[in-house]
Amino acid sequence: MNPLEIIRSMPKVELHLHLEGAFTLESLYRLINKYGGDPDVKNLEDLKRKFIFTDFHHFIETWYWKSKYYREAADIEDMAYSTILDLSQKNIIYAEVFFSPWDFVKPEMPFKSVTEAVISGVRRAESECPIRIGLIADLIRDQGYQTVDKRLDEITPYRNEVIGVGLGGSEKEFPAEWFTEVFHEAKRRGFHVVAHAGEVAGADSIWSALKNLQAERIGHGVRATEDPALIDYLKSKQIPLEVCVNSNLKLKIFSTPADHPVRRFFDEGLLVTINSDDPTMFGMDLNDEFILLFNEYKFTLPEIRQLTSNAIRASFANDRYKAHLTQAHEKYWKQITLLNGRI
Ligand SMILES: [Zn+2]
Repeated sequence: MNPLEIIRSMPKVELHLHLEGAFTLESLYRLINKYGGDPDVKNLEDLKRKFIFTDFHHFIETWYWKSKYYREAADIEDMAYSTILDLSQKNIIYAEVFFSPWDFVKPEMPFKSVTEAVISGVRRAESECPIRIGLIADLIRDQGYQTVDKRLDEITPYRNEVIGVGLGGSEKEFPAEWFTEVFHEAKRRGFHVVAHAGEVAGADSIWSALKNLQAERIGHGVRATEDPALIDYLKSKQIPLEVCVNSNLKLKIFSTPADHPVRRFFDEGLLVTINSDDPTMFGMDLNDEFILLFNEYKFTLPEIRQLTSNAIRASFANDRYKAHLTQAHEKYWKQITLLNGRI
């Protein structure tokens, strides 16, 4: 097996993935046809072309364009189901997946039916293939504190199905500290808490997510580079960073690939995990992310193996399930070593 095959067949764990950005184009194409088709999308190839990332404006435009095809609960259920099936086909064995039901809510499709459709689609996929999913509700900061507070109340009855809450959206305009109370309350209700920080805003945003929200992991966190004291803190506390290299490069968080700190963070002993963020929107899945690390950032196979161990460690799976994931992971690398000799 060559290194790229080893990466593709490796059992993987992903911790930062938005369900709504990981849909399969095939499932969206089915929906477009269900609702009478689109003159610009005559076949799947047209749809693939439409989703080739160009810039942030195009990202937002296609995001809203696709949303109009999710019109009833069955559409959401199919989207969730086919997305998880697709992750499993890429040999992801465990993922913690953000979902934001509020994006789809409308009078004819209330919060309850969207949320239950997502849960049903995810559980159906889990029952059919070797993957387990932890759902994290992304409360999204862009409508302010009151909305986030209300959303926490709405998601709380699903606490048995939803392991955590996250804070996505515009970190610059809606800083983490505004949401301190609601995140403390989420913790009291038994949710894990995570936050996007240090992507569009700088090191202060990460400090705030850690100190005010008590975030257990940081989504992105790459702009920690701006504060050496923060780097030391992240390292000594081993706070997991959900690094999404391709997403950062596409959104021009760093001007060139060489400026991205993934290699530096890893070498300095930070708890780095590798993730795809919105794989369909950015055109790269988790396999592609690892291949990018291998080709561009010269990560060796043992280092890629370490990154998966990091993801298992940083996950919210219970200890028993972590042991199971570690066992699957170790077994794979033992087989690879037997086949290929020392890697
Ligand atoms: Zn994200």
